This record gives sequence, structure tokens and C-alpha cells, in this order.
Amino acid sequence: MRYVFGPVPSRRLGFSLGIDMVPYKTCTFDCVYCECGKTTVHETTRRQHFESIGPVLDEIEMVLSSGRRIDYITLGGSGEPTLNVQCGELIKEVKARTDIPVAVLTNGSLMPDEKVFRELLLADLVIPSLDASLQEPFETVNRPVSGILAAEVADAISRFVRASRGQMWLEVLIVAGMNDADEHIEALADTIRHIDPLHVQVGTVERPGTEDWAEPVSEPRLAQICSTLGPRAVMIGGPSRDLAGDSTENMTERLLALITRRPCTIDDIESAVGGKRPVLLGKLEELKHAGKVNRFEHKDKTFYIGSRE
Ligand code: SF4
Repeated sequence: MRYVFGPVPSRRLGFSLGIDMVPYKTCTFDCVYCECGKTTVHETTRRQHFESIGPVLDEIEMVLSSGRRIDYITLGGSGEPTLNVQCGELIKEVKARTDIPVAVLTNGSLMPDEKVFRELLLADLVIPSLDASLQEPFETVNRPVSGILAAEVADAISRFVRASRGQMWLEVLIVAGMNDADEHIEALADTIRHIDPLHVQVGTVERPGTEDWAEPVSEPRLAQICSTLGPRAVMIGGPSRDLAGDSTENMTERLLALITRRPCTIDDIESAVGGKRPVLLGKLEELKHAGKVNRFEHKDKTFYIGSRE
């Protein structure tokens, strides 16, 4: 499968079938914590026609016909999905094939564009991220393409809540020393009050990202930030649910689909892919010898990442 991965248990969406909407690594941001790696030549705000959506729909139909549990079909992947000019069309086509709700994970940067705004209204759930409402921490953490303004993004998110009748959750990621100062959090809390989203999910750095020096805030500080951000803010952690019953072949495919998109510990892999730990470790060793997986140490933890070749 080239465009579709999962379903994997997601901390937000239950069993989520992920759809990669843009080639690696196409984004309007270059977040310091991005688990997909650095945005380089593809850092852009220009929406593009990538490949035809036919093969994406074929892959989705293949997974749907397997009868596996899927709670959401989620547009996201290794970059910003709304950069794909066929985003709205894909949502429509998926909804014509299934009643499973469609979610979009977006950094919100293109939501001020009316066309993107209307396309996102076709989805059942939109989850934009907003790590800062002041321009300075926004630029430090998210490193957007020049010209993207935090205030305009926040304003579009706020209009979207009203237009979509609330089918929007907000996601906030806090990085120690970058967007965690009291004045950053108080400004963000004001903005969130104005946006009035259904939920606010607040996390911190959990896995190796683009920058080695991007550090998490402590759990007590994260709890304090959550309480400042208001009654709808909750702390989120890693995936915790189990998927079982796949054949070894499917397990390998899903394992590779998972770790090619982000670095994972064996705990992450076990809870996302299912299967017994010794079997998974044996499979990872095999894939490492075949040059398909790399293993590395980061802050006293062992991570696995799939080769993108
Ligand atoms: S975390 Fe999301 S918004 Fe940030 S660079 Fe990665 S893909 Fe883009």
C-alpha cells in the first residue's frame, strides 16, 4: 500500500485508517518536533496536483473490504494534507463509498484560504493544531513559510468552529523553552476562549523529532498549562490500544507503514501493531538486516524507523 496505512490505534480517533495526502515531506511548516523529519525543498504554501486520487480510493476500498474495524478515515500523513488540491474531492469520494467518518489533521495554515475552508467543511471532523497564538513562539516552534500569521490562522479556525457547528477539536503541542512561557500560554488561552472548540488536546514532545534539542515539558507543567487553557483542555499521551489477529504478512506491512511515518519504540509498535514482543523484535531485526529499518538510541530509549527509500 502506497497511500494508505493502518488502521492503527490512535490516541485521538480510535482505529484510524491513515491516508498520506502529500509526498514526503511537503508542508507549510517545519516544526521543531515533527516526527516525520525536516521539511526541505517542499516547504511551500502553493497547493498542488500530486497524483490522481484513483489509486488512493482503490487502496481505501481494499481495506474497507477486509472488514477490519475502522473508526475514522484520516487525511494526514507526512506533511500538510490541504496542500493537495484534490483534498475536497477525495473527502467527497470517500464519503460516497462509506459511512465511516472522515477526519482531517491539519496545521491550519491554509484555512484562511476560502477554498480550503470550504473543502474542510466536507469532513466530519477537523483537527487543526495551534501551538501558539503569538507570532514569536509560533515562528520559533512551527517555523512556517514566511508570511503565515498566527493571528490569521487562529481567526480562520475560529470561523471554522462556527461554520462547522463545532465538529472541530484543537491540538496544542508544547515544547520546553519555546512556547511554554506564562505569557505564551495566557495569550493562547485567550485565543482558545474565543475559538471555543469542542475539545483541546494538549501534548508535549514524546518521540525524536526534527530537532534533537526540542525537549518536552514536565508532566506537572503540562497539567498546569492544561488548566490555564480552560476546562475543555485535556492532556494526551501515546497510543494504548491493541490490535490483534493479523497474519504475519499483514503485521509486517503494518509495522513498516507505522515506522516509516514516525520513529517508534517497541512499546509503541506493540500497542499499534499487535503481536507478541519477541516476534516483533525478531521481525524488526530481520527488516534491519534487509536494510528496511534502522535502530537508534535517543534519550535512553531505543527507536525504530523505516527506510523511506
Ligand atoms: S508536525 Fe505537522 S505541521 Fe509540523 S512540520 Fe510536521 S507535518 Fe508539518
